[in-house]
Amino acid sequence: MEVKTSLLDNMIGVGDMVLIEPLSEDTFIENLKKRFDHNEIYTYIGSVVISMNPYKSLPIYTAEKVEEYRNRNFYELSPHILNIFSFKQDNDQCILITGESGAGKTEASKFVMSYVAAVCGKGQEVNKVKEQLLQSNPVLEAFGNAKTVKNDNSSRFGKYMDIEFDFKGDPLGGVISNYLLEKSRVVKQPRGERNFHIFYQLLSGASDDTLQKLKLDRDFSKYNYLSLDSATVNGLDDAASFRTVRNAMQIVGFMEDEVQSILELVAAVLKLGNIEFKPESRCNGYDENLKEMCELLGIEQSVLERAFSFRTVEAKMEKVSTTLNVAQAYYARDALAKNLYSRLFSWLVNRINESIKAQTKTRKKVMGVLDIYGFEIFEDNSFEQFIINYCNEKLQQIFIELTLREEQEEYVREDIEWTNIEYFNNAIICDLIENNKNGILAMLDEECLRPGTVTDETFLDKLNTMCAEHQHFESRQSKNSKFLTDHSLPHNCFRIQHYAGKVLYRAEGFVDKNNDLLYRDLSQAMYKANHSLIKILFPEGNPAKVNLKRPPTAGFQFRASVGTLMKNLLTKNPNYIRCIKPNDKKAAHIFTDSLVCHQVRYLGLLENVRVRRAGYAFRQAYDPCLERYKMLCKQTWPHWKGPAREGVEVLLTDLQVPAEEFAYGRTKIFIRNPRTLFFLEEKRSQC
Ligand code: ADP
Ligand code: MG
Repeated sequence: MEVKTSLLDNMIGVGDMVLIEPLSEDTFIENLKKRFDHNEIYTYIGSVVISMNPYKSLPIYTAEKVEEYRNRNFYELSPHILNIFSFKQDNDQCILITGESGAGKTEASKFVMSYVAAVCGKGQEVNKVKEQLLQSNPVLEAFGNAKTVKNDNSSRFGKYMDIEFDFKGDPLGGVISNYLLEKSRVVKQPRGERNFHIFYQLLSGASDDTLQKLKLDRDFSKYNYLSLDSATVNGLDDAASFRTVRNAMQIVGFMEDEVQSILELVAAVLKLGNIEFKPESRCNGYDENLKEMCELLGIEQSVLERAFSFRTVEAKMEKVSTTLNVAQAYYARDALAKNLYSRLFSWLVNRINESIKAQTKTRKKVMGVLDIYGFEIFEDNSFEQFIINYCNEKLQQIFIELTLREEQEEYVREDIEWTNIEYFNNAIICDLIENNKNGILAMLDEECLRPGTVTDETFLDKLNTMCAEHQHFESRQSKNSKFLTDHSLPHNCFRIQHYAGKVLYRAEGFVDKNNDLLYRDLSQAMYKANHSLIKILFPEGNPAKVNLKRPPTAGFQFRASVGTLMKNLLTKNPNYIRCIKPNDKKAAHIFTDSLVCHQVRYLGLLENVRVRRAGYAFRQAYDPCLERYKMLCKQTWPHWKGPAREGVEVLLTDLQVPAEEFAYGRTKIFIRNPRTLFFLEEKRSQC
């Protein structure tokens, strides 16, 4: 990083964590707190931006601010999220935003997008593109966000968006990818939380006429899938949001009949949740909800009734039908609801992509924005946490690879000898999870596909045996050393040493969630629907395309999409925003040390600083360096006649800075330790 004057203000703490001396968890957190108390919510670690959620609106995103940051050297101003736009290179960029729920990731990604919209080109065509990119947000949030205990507007999916620019820097369009929508929420919500916003928005905001067509009642309490204890959220106006979403859909380019189809599917999910099964006649032919759902989707009622009563398993030449009991019927119903909704969501993303994709092929540069959940360490961790944490391990890999690569490249450019950096490489943890042959995901898949009785216990046994065997032979640095077994493990659990800490996973539900089973009878029933949208959501229900192979597991799909994401990110110049939540009351002005400490740990921020400081913590071009410190030496004050590089050399020699503390690059001076910088600054203040 470059030496920045505004970074050393003692009153408000240092603006760059690499300047902290001595570096410890305590000094790190103390610095964050000092800054937070002064409304300085951004702090750097080199080029990484730490962002604290202020839980109040700060006047730092105004048009004037944007102008100020646009026209001045970023380093002269206090740290800001806008810093990430200081990129002068023509390289493709990506912005990786991580942090726990409620830490401010989505808000940050929205600031980024509105900044792009504010500073990039004008003109009708460009404005339309910008408007569509921005308006994709409310649509995705309506279907993919929900009120949780941590965040009233919590994104329940991971999102990556590439924005493409032409050679003038005008946006041409974008591509969105979504990851792992939390579909279990459709059928059940934890206490104090809601289902996805769209359900409440539709019931509150749609006209009487629309609701009648959808056979819906305005009253939330009529629907089993909607939790009631927190149906209304302070500060959220569902009816107004519905209008915003409808408007956004129009701007993004949805046709009226498409919107209608989408809402029919939303209504169908609500109806589905109300269908009841009884022991005597599993599916009650007079069930009003079943009837209405079939009407909405153009499905013949008897077809759906049958699909809820039997399960057909097809093997080579045979078809075997078994009757579902009541519990199995409910399981099938909920599986259908979850699948229907999550497929609708993926379809929406694709549909938006169709609208916002660049119309020309002459793109010059791409900026990717990743808004994804950070590490999750709960008391009870399940398959979802396992997958999310795996994704974060991969992001850490990219961080290490790219940061080091960047360092290395600069050293080569500057002709400075490369000193090896000692750091913890988490590649072995990634391998433990994703190895094709004996990674945890592969073993889970193998178990899911194995004939015979498969349970979470048999999966866990397999893991334990496998890892124990290898542990015996391999060294401490092997991947299996990250799979921790000891006698303190609770029943049915395994533990992994992630780079951000140890996490205990409960094996319960892994097999089921990975299988993500939807009985074929149901997908076939959906495919038979006389409804254009639902039909395309269930292509595997096409009897002409009966595929005896089972569909890819949830884990397999996620691993594949993370792989694609990583490939994409590796071609870009990374920028990081690490979001931190100051308290769990959603309140301004409160800084809870223990909570912040926890996040600093699992975001690996100290590790981050160490990597940045491992080689040369600072570098600065010769000219500004000489300009700043020339007063410290008689030979360079007031004017140095020769080249700046020689001036700096004279200066540092005169000040007796030990030679091993710096290196002379082609255009920059490299300083190894922050102490040297403090020494120079102190001298300067004494002048
Ligand atoms: P995440 O996406 O990390 O779960 P959000 O971005 O949705 O979190 O932020 C949660 C809430 O915190 C927002 O709804 C908003 O009220 C508040 N918030 C987050 N970032 C800021 C910010 N920079 N300024 C003001 N309020 C913020
Ligand atoms: Mg979010």
